[in-house]
Amino acid sequence: MIYFTPGPSQLHKNIARYIQDTLKYNVGSVSHRSEIYKKWHSKAVLGIRKFLSVPDSHSVFFLSSSLESMERIIQNTVYKSSFHVIIGAFSKKWYEIAEALKKSPTQITIPDGQPIPEKITLPQNTEVVCITQNETSTGVSIPLNVIHSFKKKYPHVLVAVDVVSSCPFPKLDYSRVDFSFFSVQKGLGLPAGLGVLTVSPQALFKSQELEKKYSVGSYHSFSSLKIMADKSQTPETPNVLGIYLLGKILHDLNKKGIKKIRYEINEKAKLIHNFFSKNPQMGTPFVSDSRFRSSTTLMFKVGTKQKKILNALKKEGVIIGRGYGAKYKNGYIRVANFPQHSLQMVNKLLKVLDKIK
Ligand SMILES: *Cc1c(COP(=O)(O)O)cnc(C)c1O
Repeated sequence: MIYFTPGPSQLHKNIARYIQDTLKYNVGSVSHRSEIYKKWHSKAVLGIRKFLSVPDSHSVFFLSSSLESMERIIQNTVYKSSFHVIIGAFSKKWYEIAEALKKSPTQITIPDGQPIPEKITLPQNTEVVCITQNETSTGVSIPLNVIHSFKKKYPHVLVAVDVVSSCPFPKLDYSRVDFSFFSVQKGLGLPAGLGVLTVSPQALFKSQELEKKYSVGSYHSFSSLKIMADKSQTPETPNVLGIYLLGKILHDLNKKGIKKIRYEINEKAKLIHNFFSKNPQMGTPFVSDSRFRSSTTLMFKVGTKQKKILNALKKEGVIIGRGYGAKYKNGYIRVANFPQHSLQMVNKLLKVLDKIK
């Protein structure tokens, strides 16, 4: 089976071999305080730094998921008010997390699939601006210049970016981004159960100030995570298996090189979009303005063709996503385009679609 689902998704082709190795090396049994664990931990962190150009000044934390990253960011760095750019279900979830933590978040809601304004004015009391760079539920992608522009105009506001379903495609400028996070089950091609969060020194400082007066959680407060990260460890017994596998896969991805990987994502996205623009009777992009169309989670309106498309693909061993949530479950499809999806896989997908057009 080939999984073009937005996550969990297709596994990286070398995963099977590395999972076998984990039995050989007792990855499931050794202590998370042992020297060998610390080696695996730092291999994964260094792999991330190299792959995504995360500077040494920024901390890299391992959490259980990206929803946890959303919660930890709010909990550790917001006294009162975060500002949320809501463009779909995942960005809305982040806003709701801030509400659940009894903060007073503010937001701008942009209708699903619609263009993102170039300039977004932040309310005066904003402490953290929360942006979902790639909204998986609608296939909308926010251009990086919009994200990078906040820091210049609002140097004291922390900028938090969800790149869960686009990483490693966007080339973030870490001097303008205080938090970035992703989960490994999407663009990294690993089994679920591990989130990665990068934190700037400015954000870490703010969290230390907050911690003096407010509850910022316990074992996963930033200060607790930082003390252990400096020793290549985590406060709790972490997902050792996931961290081990992440280090292995990053080694392979780094060998291939981020430039080539980004180039290929772009080329594959073009192929898929070209198919639909040549065959509009098969479907049309949900995001009509191409400037805001995701290259990693593509969404199309296919109407009554949905069943035929899903069935024809399934018969050939290809699984794609339906639309997200009750609103889009019927009549829409989503296709993930991650590094682990080879050109051959995309060609197979398009060949099946071509047959039924
Ligand atoms: C999948 C996803 C999440 C949630 O990730 P989990 O690992 O399930 O916590 C958050 N944001 C976006 C944009 C996503 O696609």
